[in-house]
Amino acid sequence: MAEEIEYYPSKGDMRFVRPSIRALEIGTRTIEFGEEPTQRTGKEGVVSLPARHDEAYWAEMRAKVGCIVSNEFQGPKRGPAELYDEALKIMQDIEKHFHATTATTAPDPRHDGAFGLALYALTLLFNAATSYSHNLVEGRIMLRSIMEAFVTLHYLAVKDEPKIWSQYRSYGSGQTKLAFLKNLREADVPEFVDLGLMEQLANEDMWMEFQDIELGNWANLNLRKMAEVGGIKSVYDRYYDWSSGYAHGHWTCVRDTVFVHCLNPLHRFHRIPAPPKSNMPSILPDACKLVNQMIDDLNHLYPSFKPRLKWHKTLKDDSPMAKSSEGPEATRDRQEPSEKL
Ligand SMILES: [Zn+2]
Repeated sequence: MAEEIEYYPSKGDMRFVRPSIRALEIGTRTIEFGEEPTQRTGKEGVVSLPARHDEAYWAEMRAKVGCIVSNEFQGPKRGPAELYDEALKIMQDIEKHFHATTATTAPDPRHDGAFGLALYALTLLFNAATSYSHNLVEGRIMLRSIMEAFVTLHYLAVKDEPKIWSQYRSYGSGQTKLAFLKNLREADVPEFVDLGLMEQLANEDMWMEFQDIELGNWANLNLRKMAEVGGIKSVYDRYYDWSSGYAHGHWTCVRDTVFVHCLNPLHRFHRIPAPPKSNMPSILPDACKLVNQMIDDLNHLYPSFKPRLKWHKTLKDDSPMAKSSEGPEATRDRQEPSEKL
């Protein structure tokens, strides 16, 4: 095409080359000469050019023709019954294992922390499976929290030092104390805050007058660094950034959640609010993989615990819930020597 322009009019089919060059000239001349004047003087005298009318055209189309919205919205679906039965059974098994491995009734940061984090993630998974949230926006926020709990537990398990387990626990108490003290001065305490409960929790291990309040992250590392130290950076990269966007209300996640395209080409396919989006890919298979890895960590710290979630492995490849055939388990940097099922 460049040669046809360079050797014009000696090369190529002039029925195509000539109009292409003309179109190119028209398209680029405002860059060279600026906007066309509304009047110009030519051989034929003064010629009036029409004013720019592109915005007026689109405004007229918007005023005269309605939006076209797809009616192919699906209602939300509850999570599969098999999964919540399975998740409930594993929660009960973990509870039994908790009692079987309890060495003391004194505060035990390692034991309580390990079981607590695993059960916390499992509770989020269970709630997602028993509700509609797994393919709604809140499912993504739940998945992010499961990922964060996994990175925390894995970091603690890799380090496995009494001091770090204690830091994790005392940081949480300190943060509760901080939130309690801030709300104590508030005239208008938020409805969801139970100050009595908060005070009780903050005082549970040690009277809060004696507690330090640590700012920043409890391990003095951000979550990415903790994932690096734990050897699970690849899992973190796959799950954390995109799911965090929903928790932070980043624009593309906001746009994905509440807007759809109007299908009318006369409206330039603008974005319009849609009914609550309920057809996002389910987070349940990914949540199962992450929770299983947390159970691996629990098994590593308190052997031997064999049950694992299996529901996600029964999904067929073409199932909308099994979009990703290669799970994070395959890309984990450091494999635990545990019972991979
Ligand atoms: Zn429209």
